[in-house]
Amino acid sequence: MAVAIHSVALLSAVLTLVYIGFLVQGAYRRQTRMAQLHVEERAMLRARLDLIAAPIAKVAVEKGLAAWSGFRKFRVEGKVLEAESCCSFYLAPHDGRPLPAYLPGQYLTFRLQIPGQAREVTRCYSLSDSPDHTDYYRVTIKRIAPPPSAKDAPAGLVSSHFHDRIQVGDILDVKAPSGHFHLDVESRTPVVLVGGGIGVTPALSMLNYLVSAPGKREVWFFYGVRNGQEHMLKDYLREIAEQNPNVHLVACYSDPLASDRVNEDFHFGERVSVDLFKRVLNVNNFEFYICGPPPMMESLTKGLAEWGVPDDKIHFEAFGPASVKRVAKAEGAPVPDAAGFEVNFVRSNKTVKWSSGAGTLLELAEAHGIRLDSGCRAGSCGTCVTAVRDGKVRYLGGNPDFDIEKGSCLACVAVPDGALSLDA
Ligand SMILES: Cc1cc2nc3c(=O)[nH]c(=O)nc-3n(C[C@H](O)[C@H](O)[C@H](O)COP(=O)(O)OP(=O)(O)OC[C@H]3O[C@@H](n4cnc5c(N)ncnc54)[C@H](O)[C@@H]3O)c2cc1C
Repeated sequence: MAVAIHSVALLSAVLTLVYIGFLVQGAYRRQTRMAQLHVEERAMLRARLDLIAAPIAKVAVEKGLAAWSGFRKFRVEGKVLEAESCCSFYLAPHDGRPLPAYLPGQYLTFRLQIPGQAREVTRCYSLSDSPDHTDYYRVTIKRIAPPPSAKDAPAGLVSSHFHDRIQVGDILDVKAPSGHFHLDVESRTPVVLVGGGIGVTPALSMLNYLVSAPGKREVWFFYGVRNGQEHMLKDYLREIAEQNPNVHLVACYSDPLASDRVNEDFHFGERVSVDLFKRVLNVNNFEFYICGPPPMMESLTKGLAEWGVPDDKIHFEAFGPASVKRVAKAEGAPVPDAAGFEVNFVRSNKTVKWSSGAGTLLELAEAHGIRLDSGCRAGSCGTCVTAVRDGKVRYLGGNPDFDIEKGSCLACVAVPDGALSLDA
């Protein structure tokens, strides 16, 4: 009897052990499978998001790299919300061929067919990532609301189109990177990068380039927004500053929210200003690269000149219609006599008077019902290029970004410099 009890106990112990063995093995299998899944998942994600998280390759950025002419097709590979009303779009070439590098600070020009618009629309958007990715470009676009002075006006046409309609998989027509506002990649001089609001995009590209470039150039990154809701890539920027002792991040909130924490979310509760540069930097021997709203740029460029920063160390770009004029350049604007300059639009068979209040040649044409194509209205996209039959023009705010062929002008930023005859 005792033997029988002993055998049953032994059998049940063995069965229990076998059962536990099965359980352990099952759990191990599940664990291994999970780990495998994670590896697969990560690999898939990496393949998919290689676009987004690709390590910055140490590829030199050279001037004059082969670009393409006209428009090239790009596929939207990613759409990422960066902050309130700001979205990044990751664009891969539809033909799958490698992309030329660009100079940090340059922009892309997009041509879009927007529902309800009779004509195609052209806009420029700065490249916001490091230029050494050969498989994608990134632009970051802010949805533009109606201005406070015209609350019932339609919201920004193209920025809303990107936010509301453009999705992953869409195909876009894009011109090659261009623009004269870019980092001097050969210089070793310490740099101050300044971004106001969405104007931070070229500064981001410059920063991303600088942290991957050899030489560890000293970088001060001043980023001005109203509050934490507008602060793009906060953790990313903080990480960059933590990992790169040569990078100093200065976040300025002009109107912080109660939830925004000083020294955590931002450093100064004020606008970016030359007074702040003086307090933070002490000295002025930096290259300054500035992009932001016109009032910020006007005050910074003027204040830096007064602080003794040479003109060739102050680089800036306006996103909207060019409204920044260096003090010295404004002095060179043409001064017509009381009668103004005559402008002959030959193909429209109209001759009209231009005086300083008439604005640019594009505005003059529009005011007189003469049709000229236009895009960015900032001298960047080249849509308004018009042949000059006779006479000369001058450019408000210095030479435009777009390279104009001899014998033509960019009507959106040009004014006549005497009697003028245009092929329009
Ligand atoms: C070189 C360059 C680089 C740029 N880089 C970037 C960038 O990186 N990121 C970015 O977000 N932007 C950038 N921009 C700005 C961008 O090109 C566009 O100008 C911006 O997106 C606004 O275009 P939109 O079509 O959305 O607005 P638009 O349709 O041109 O409208 C502009 C404003 O006018 C208002 N408006 C429209 N109709 C009326 C009306 N009838 N009456 C009164 N107001 C009206 C709109 O509400 C809006 O506030 C850049 C510009 C340049 C020149």
